[in-house]
Order: sequence, then C-alpha cells, then structure tokens
Amino acid sequence: RFISVEGVDGAGKSTQLAWLAQWLTARGVRLVQTREPGGTPLGERLREWLLAEPMHLETEALLMFAARREHLAAVLKPALARGDWVLCDRFTDASFAYQGGGRGLAPAKVAALEDWVQGSGAARVEPDLTLLFDVPPEVSAARLAQGRELDRFEREAADFHARVRDAYLARAASAPQRIRVIDGRGTPEQIQAALARQLPDWLGL
Ligand code: C5P
Repeated sequence: RFISVEGVDGAGKSTQLAWLAQWLTARGVRLVQTREPGGTPLGERLREWLLAEPMHLETEALLMFAARREHLAAVLKPALARGDWVLCDRFTDASFAYQGGGRGLAPAKVAALEDWVQGSGAARVEPDLTLLFDVPPEVSAARLAQGRELDRFEREAADFHARVRDAYLARAASAPQRIRVIDGRGTPEQIQAALARQLPDWLGL
C-alpha cells in the first residue's frame, strides 16, 4: 500500500504523520516513511535548493519531478515490490496544488510530468490513499505565524496559500475515493480520534 499525506503549510500534517506511522506500525504494518521533495540523498539536496532558491515556476516543477523520479526508482518502487507499506509526506497532489494552483502552472503540464514520471495505465505508481488535512487560511496562517523559521513557500502571501488550498480541494473532489479530506481544525487528539474511526475502513484493515 502507498499512502500519501497532504495539506497546506500549517494544516498539522507533520503532527498527524508521526501519529499515523505509530498507528500503522502498532498494527503490524512494515512501513517505509519518507517525504517529498526528498527521500533520497539527491532528492534531499534538490529539496534544499527548492526551499531556498527563487526560480522559474517550470524549473521548480521540473526539479520537483526530478526528485520524484529518483524517489520512485530508489525508494518507493522497491518498497512496494517488497510488500512494505509506504507513508509519504506529500506526493504529486502537492505539485498540482503548489506549482499548479499556487504558482499558476497549467495543470496539463503537471499531468504530463505525472504521466512521464509515474507511468500510465496499469504500470502507473500512485497512492492508494491520500489523506488531505484541510484548514481555512486563517487557521494555517495563525499556526505558521507562531512557529519555526519559514521556507520560501511558507513565506508566500495569503492569496498563494488560498489558491493552494483550493487546488487541493478541487483535486480531492475529482478523486473522492482516493483522497480523503480531514478537517484539520480540531486538536491533534480530536483529529486522531476521527482518523482511528475511519482508517480501518479506508485501508481495509
Ligand atoms: O511538507 P513540507 O512543508 O516539509 O514541504 C516543504 C515545502 O515544499 C512546503 O512549504 C511546500 O509548500 C513545498 N512543496 C511544493 N511543491 C511540492 C511539494 C512541496 O511547493 N510539490
């Protein structure tokens, strides 16, 4: 199984990822936990550039997918082939949301890169389940304002974050079986209780 976790910056994704990894491991799942951009030595170097360096939006998209290509070859495909589960912090939905919705890259260009990098038809690699943590812009902005040092994406203006959120929700609406939207406004414990109720059904556990 391949599970990805998505959400705008400040949606509470990192907190829930740590909980989710424990929840799965406690159920006997052999888990590979990883992230994008990153997950390989090359991908982590690309991540440093992507988070720090201003660049053309198509360069940004191409580097995201370059990191993804490497990640698929070196980590994701081998793990899935062994029968391990993969828990990935962001995947291609983030490219539709950030490079597409946020930066304005045509969705058809993101989809073309998706076909190239993930394959098409039966050979395509994509998540079986995507958890999208959703919060309104006021909530994510307030959480980011109290936190750690911000990266290049997190420092973007409010309208950027609003477009990213809208693109995520539109994508969820187009794939409602795969992408489950989780209300990220509650306390971590409330969200975990909701997840614990739904996950067995979503994962067939
Ligand atoms: O998930 P995390 O917050 O660690 O991701 C790092 C940054 O990379 C985020 O600020 C996110 O906005 C950005 N990102 C992106 N496009 C992607 C994946 C991540 O802009 N496809």
